[in-house]
Amino acid sequence: MTAADKYTIETITHIHTWVPDKLFSIRTTRPAQYRFIAGQFARLGVAKCTPEGESIAWRAYSIVSAPHDEHLEFFSIVVPNGEFTSELARMQAGDQLYLEKMNYGFLTTDRFECGKDLWLLSSGTGLAPFISILYDLKTWEDYERVILVHSVRDPGELAYRELIEDMKHHEYFGEFAATRLRYVPVVTRTQTPGALGKRITELIDNGELERFTGTPFDHARSRVMICGNPDMVDDLRKQFVGRGFSVSKRGQPGHLAVENYW
Ligand code: FAD
Repeated sequence: MTAADKYTIETITHIHTWVPDKLFSIRTTRPAQYRFIAGQFARLGVAKCTPEGESIAWRAYSIVSAPHDEHLEFFSIVVPNGEFTSELARMQAGDQLYLEKMNYGFLTTDRFECGKDLWLLSSGTGLAPFISILYDLKTWEDYERVILVHSVRDPGELAYRELIEDMKHHEYFGEFAATRLRYVPVVTRTQTPGALGKRITELIDNGELERFTGTPFDHARSRVMICGNPDMVDDLRKQFVGRGFSVSKRGQPGHLAVENYW
């Protein structure tokens, strides 16, 4: 097998800037044979010119788009001087990216059994896999309620806010979103209308998140996915484990599934 058998080359079709020089989304073409489960991540590559010649820098990226979409979408930070993101941020529609043929990851709802309330707790770009999960029919077949919490520092970073709030008008998912989706934006640095203003750990500790959503954390009903900043993921995992929740393992479904981005 040659290196080229491991990846395909995809074309960027659209770029959306959320916060200039900081946050953006890209859409690419999708090979017909590329399959994934909502919540999984892809490995993307960008070509880099070095004094030794051309090389490819690879990074993991959660897939924002739904398994049934014809395109792939990714939501990215720009890390100042980051090897991968400084190249990606320079790209434009028409440019090409490498996509590994394999898909990866266990931040998927099949890690759980028998839940009723699906909590999706994210910070920053950790929102990405949860958008895919919202647009997956299986989510709505399996859960009575879905609570999506997105924590950011500044209100401009509430990417996908309009899409999530408008989901109630969606042709297929609208009837689910209208009655069963609760979106909770959290902005930690500035008071923001419609958003809670403390770290997710604090909102859980002081009971504010449960009161605000009218949904208690409960071993029988709650299944919790956590994604984003490793400190947040670790703090939340410990908080839930301290309350008797268990992390799902292969062949041993629990209450928690977590993914760190670095
Ligand atoms: P790197 O050298 O990789 O990282 C440098 C530093 O930047 C890190 O040490 C960390 O402090 C910071 N950093 C890295 N990623 C982020 C981030 N997402 N938000 C804030 N700070 C960060 N990144 C995304 O932007 N979107 C995704 O959907 C995404 N999905 C991922 C899924 C998985 C399973 C993993 C492991 C990582 C994911 N990442 C995602 C992170 C991504 O792989 C890269 O680390 C990121 O694109 C930065 O690459 P870089 O080479 O520019 O900097």
